[in-house]
Amino acid sequence: MVNSYAPENLSEALRLLQAGKVTPYAGGTDIMVHPRAAASYLFLRQLPELGQISATEQFYVIGSTVTYQDLLTQTKVDLPDVLLQACRKVAAPPIRNLGTLGGNICNASPAGDTLPVLYALDASVRLARFEPASVNVKDTDGSISYRLLPLRQFIQGVRRTCRQPDELLTEILIPKVRYTLTEYEKIAARKAQAISKVSFCGAAAAEAGQLTRLALAFGSVGVTVVRDSQIETAILNGDYDIAAAVKAYDQLLRPITDQRSTAGYRRTVCLNLVRNFLTAVLAQTRSGAQVTDQ
Ligand SMILES: Cc1cc2nc3c(=O)[nH]c(=O)nc-3n(C[C@H](O)[C@H](O)[C@H](O)COP(=O)(O)OP(=O)(O)OC[C@H]3O[C@@H](n4cnc5c(N)ncnc54)[C@H](O)[C@@H]3O)c2cc1C
Repeated sequence: MVNSYAPENLSEALRLLQAGKVTPYAGGTDIMVHPRAAASYLFLRQLPELGQISATEQFYVIGSTVTYQDLLTQTKVDLPDVLLQACRKVAAPPIRNLGTLGGNICNASPAGDTLPVLYALDASVRLARFEPASVNVKDTDGSISYRLLPLRQFIQGVRRTCRQPDELLTEILIPKVRYTLTEYEKIAARKAQAISKVSFCGAAAAEAGQLTRLALAFGSVGVTVVRDSQIETAILNGDYDIAAAVKAYDQLLRPITDQRSTAGYRRTVCLNLVRNFLTAVLAQTRSGAQVTDQ
């Protein structure tokens, strides 16, 4: 038998989660791929606390149950264009209407389309749990505690996160940074309704002809999204030219052969993507152009 719970607010949801074996259910587009005959689902989409999109001075703040379609159609917050590029490439409209950003993160598939973007933009996730009254960190009801951690720390492996069974992902925080060039690429068998063979996000900022910030993230070529701060720093410092950077990624990446692609194809595509992105970034930096993507 399948049981389902539809709490009215976050506090009630967290109590239910702490009380028993219930599975958080946002859009259900990953969960329902492998439905279980006996399950208890905790529906999240009706919770007002998890469905907001806002911005502070420092961050874009996206509620975990915000769908791809919500992100693509809202007009309140000027979200990073590169995130919207990734959302447009998820599946097809029916899945984009149901699937959520929080679900993509908690599912922790290395092929999740938004993950390379969120890694490149240094996103963090906020988790909430119900606390007994004696604990000091509380919301106004005195019953919810939160922790904030970088996404790259939250995701630990294929479908593995450090979310505790009594925690819900409530929000995704993306630092507001002015990038001069951003790019998202998804390579798959078709343009729509296909899981990536390789995905890539590059984000760079330049000031007065100097590269000041660089993030390069690769999806579907490791157990989690691959990002390497040492290589990025070497490029930023001018220690690596494009050829040296490509060589460094060639040594770093360990793609596998599976039903979607071969290791060799994935490697070649990744190296082409990074070469092309760095070529564009360095050309733009030298020309002093200020193309703002965010
Ligand atoms: C036909 C099809 C095509 C697809 N194509 C793509 C694609 O192109 N690109 C892509 O990236 N993905 C794709 N997916 C996968 C899926 O749609 C996405 O990963 C989506 O973002 C999942 O969101 P959801 O809300 O449906 O998650 P759910 O299925 O509701 O949940 C996924 C997991 O996260 C947990 N969870 C969800 N929300 C929370 C929360 N707030 N707190 C704690 N745990 C939570 C659930 O318990 C579950 O373990 C596809 C799926 C299908 C069925």
